[in-house]
Amino acid sequence: MRPPRANAYRDAWAGELGPGRVGETVTVAGWVHRRRDHGGLIFIDLRDRSGIVQLVFNPDGAPEAHAEAERLRSEFVVSATGTVLEREAGNVNPNLATGEIEIGVAELRRLATSDTPPFPVDDDSPVDELLRLSHRVLDLRRPAMQHALAVRHTILRAMREHLNARDFLDLETPILTRSTPEGARDFLVPARMNPGAWYALPQSPQLFKQLLMMGGFERYYQIARCFRDEDLRGFRQPEFTQLDLEMSFVEEDDVIEITETTMAHVFEAAGFSVAPPPWPRLPFAEAMLRYGSDKPDLRFGLEIAELGEAFAGTGFQVFSRVLDGGGVVRGLNAGARELPRRELDELTEVVRRFGAGGLVWAFVQEDGSWRSPAAKALSDAERAGVAERLGARPGDLLLLVADTAAVAAQALGEVRLELSRRFGLVAEGAHQITWVVDFPMFEPTDGGSGWTALHHPFTAPLGDFSDPGALQSRGYDLVLDGTEIGGGSIRIATPEVQQQVFDVLGIGPEEARARFGFLLDALRYGAPPHGGIALGLDRIVAILAGRDSIRDVIAFPKTASGADPLTGAPAPVDAEQLAELGVKSLAPPRSG
Ligand code: ASP
Repeated sequence: MRPPRANAYRDAWAGELGPGRVGETVTVAGWVHRRRDHGGLIFIDLRDRSGIVQLVFNPDGAPEAHAEAERLRSEFVVSATGTVLEREAGNVNPNLATGEIEIGVAELRRLATSDTPPFPVDDDSPVDELLRLSHRVLDLRRPAMQHALAVRHTILRAMREHLNARDFLDLETPILTRSTPEGARDFLVPARMNPGAWYALPQSPQLFKQLLMMGGFERYYQIARCFRDEDLRGFRQPEFTQLDLEMSFVEEDDVIEITETTMAHVFEAAGFSVAPPPWPRLPFAEAMLRYGSDKPDLRFGLEIAELGEAFAGTGFQVFSRVLDGGGVVRGLNAGARELPRRELDELTEVVRRFGAGGLVWAFVQEDGSWRSPAAKALSDAERAGVAERLGARPGDLLLLVADTAAVAAQALGEVRLELSRRFGLVAEGAHQITWVVDFPMFEPTDGGSGWTALHHPFTAPLGDFSDPGALQSRGYDLVLDGTEIGGGSIRIATPEVQQQVFDVLGIGPEEARARFGFLLDALRYGAPPHGGIALGLDRIVAILAGRDSIRDVIAFPKTASGADPLTGAPAPVDAEQLAELGVKSLAPPRSG
């Protein structure tokens, strides 16, 4: 850090003092990190954002300051002036950046006291998350949060630096707007001045960034807040941040190039080691087959293989029934692992959770035969066929699933991840990044009667509309270590194609006009070819800062139930407020 502007509180950062400053008089300010009373001398570790420096109070040299230091407790706020002293060799603290020096304090000002913190602030010992979030101010002072938010800043700065240098304009888009269909529920805001009407908070700036392209801005980016009212998991928050960007007169390669160079700059700034671009582009179908996921974790093998051919005409009914019904048999080689029955049952539970009927396991014996519940039902040729496709050797554990392609893929994909967790298959510090491309444009809705867009309805389709299920999209996702960190597409640039997509989604011309008339109109006045991407900032920071939860890289996050224990949001409002908005609540009155 640059030296602070000298004022009444400080003229130096605590963490930046070193032997070069010995003999100088300095003033530092911050929090009491730790205090040790050694009979005569009192030692205080003083903490500011830059780090920690040791203050020493000598009752003989500065009795007033020493007396004041006796009353200091953890998290009191102080400013201290004194001389930078070299520590004696035996007292040097190699664990502290400033461990070679200390400040012999002549004058101490206590600026604020502190109640006893409900958890230790001076270390990162585990603390109940609700307690941390309820006392977020104290939690933010802890080393892990200080680090995470500094990494967040570094990443944001690197993104802005790169895009500014590449002529992108940082433009804002509205927060009070109309619904943008990204596939989640909207947060709604009643419009007092238009009773009965509602704003929606944007699920993303998707339509506005497209309109900016039609408005001639060519290259846009925004660190954008997005709002999606969906059930939350570890990697989700009701409001989250994206690096959102859009470009005109571009194809897939152009958006991929700017994303790769931006992210390479980010990785470098954050000291995160990933192979330099260009990054591999894995077709969606291949990702689903080989890894059972559209966000494959490539840091370990355990690839899944199609085994249907090995079982063509099999007498094993569990497989023949599925194959005859148009399903698949797939499997993976878990390697030479002697798993006890209990763990095999747990893996079976995993595939059941994802809809598969069961898991066939087999240990390959020295003579090529199998120790497996299915051993008797299978022929030598079938076993040999599987062994060849899975590269099986004696001692290996083979895991097979027979089901629809979608279920088998997901079930084995989850088994793959479970095995990697159980056996620690990801090497320390290994990172793998890949694009996933060639997505289907649509997938059947849950009920199976209609279609939904895999990316969003503004993604350009490839192919013809006679068979929506066969259409591909011009979308692309970026996947880091098995987490989707971004996604985007080349967009539809004509009103006709846009309406064709709406038709497949069951949005007729009238509804389309009502909801998206502004987009359809804009597309009529000369829309350039355009495309873009959004990168999930919270996820990226979590991975780069080595945190499991995105709540650990957001200063003021919400819990899994969407609540903020700090402010108490969401909270009931007065009846008058609702009346003024023309809104009546159907919710039962809340207690407490
Ligand atoms: N709007 C998309 C999203 O938020 C990203 C994009 O297509 O650019 O996921």
